[in-house]
Amino acid sequence: MTSPPLHCLRCGVLVTGFTGCPECAAEGLGVNAAPPLADLSGLSLERYPGGPWGWPGALPVSAGPVTLGEGGTPNVRIPLADAGAGELWVKTEGANPTGSHKDRAMSVGVAAALDAGADTVVAASSGNAGTAAAAYAARAGLRCVVLTARGVPDPLRAQIDALGAARVERDDHVARNAAMREGVERLGWYPLTTFAQPPAGGNAYANEGYKSVAYEIARDFGERIGAVVVPTCRADLLAGIGRGFRELRAAGLVSRTPRLVAAEPATGAPYTAALARTGRSAQEHTTVERGPSPAFSLGESRPVWQGLDALWRSAGHAVAVPTEEFMAEHRALGAQGLFVEPSSAVGVAAGRRWAYEHGEPVVVIGTATGLKDIASVPAGKAEERVPEVTRLTA
Ligand SMILES: [Zn+2]
Repeated sequence: MTSPPLHCLRCGVLVTGFTGCPECAAEGLGVNAAPPLADLSGLSLERYPGGPWGWPGALPVSAGPVTLGEGGTPNVRIPLADAGAGELWVKTEGANPTGSHKDRAMSVGVAAALDAGADTVVAASSGNAGTAAAAYAARAGLRCVVLTARGVPDPLRAQIDALGAARVERDDHVARNAAMREGVERLGWYPLTTFAQPPAGGNAYANEGYKSVAYEIARDFGERIGAVVVPTCRADLLAGIGRGFRELRAAGLVSRTPRLVAAEPATGAPYTAALARTGRSAQEHTTVERGPSPAFSLGESRPVWQGLDALWRSAGHAVAVPTEEFMAEHRALGAQGLFVEPSSAVGVAAGRRWAYEHGEPVVVIGTATGLKDIASVPAGKAEERVPEVTRLTA
């Protein structure tokens, strides 16, 4: 069966392929396309089982399910010192099969590849998307190519290799994207991520898998959440969550939806810079300097349009978090039993601020397990934690 058509989120033109809108790209803007919103009327949130395949009719695919049990992730409450503050919750996407939120997208993206009759999928990623693509391609019996830049962290390399994908290194992101374009255009591979410049966001069918995050939050918390905080770079997750809430509201399953908050490292915070400007055109064309950050999966020099759209539609906000603040949050989360990637700690730090400033319940999307990026974790001193270890004689 053919997949539904994709239209530009900004100008509405019909878009083919997964490199964003060519009309908007001519204006220098990376704008993703999307299928029509799904009609959820008649469904019951109480009976929603969670995950992208919990409501398969809300997905723009006919193949599938391609599933490893993704979604339905736990909500963990983080205690706040001040009783007058709101509530701080972390939705732990690290509990997904390959350890990140990307599983929700890749389970749907691989089904879309089956719809398209593909035998090989390709993802350009040195992070969570590559491992998720490898897992779901394996599950569906498709071949998978993961294009990485040099220096992919060991845990990710091992995960990609164990899952049977062909891992191909290129020197940098430019070379990686060029190889991906060739794989798609000359070799006929199905793209699960994008190689577009300016970046517009990921595969528009795959991104529909993120709507399930909104469905789960609405099912688990009702309408009492004031804000959902999302660590944001190219904004696939942020935009997908926004679309999920719009569908819920259009179907009357909720009467109000939370504000969306983009959390970014202060070393590269284009959404924060954009929203500080006046007028949509100025916001769209924002550029910032980008520095190195331990939150290696975040950081862009420009806002991606689908993210701005999600923030505008929800009367949302963006928060830039300095490195020392989110690394302190990373330690605070460890003290609560949560080991997340530094990018997730950026979100929790932003969510903590929001809970104190607004006094309302906040859900932060903890995007991935900390096991993906172990190099940024400082070694712990055993004798400071349990002094008696110095008295061990054996
Ligand atoms: Zn457009």
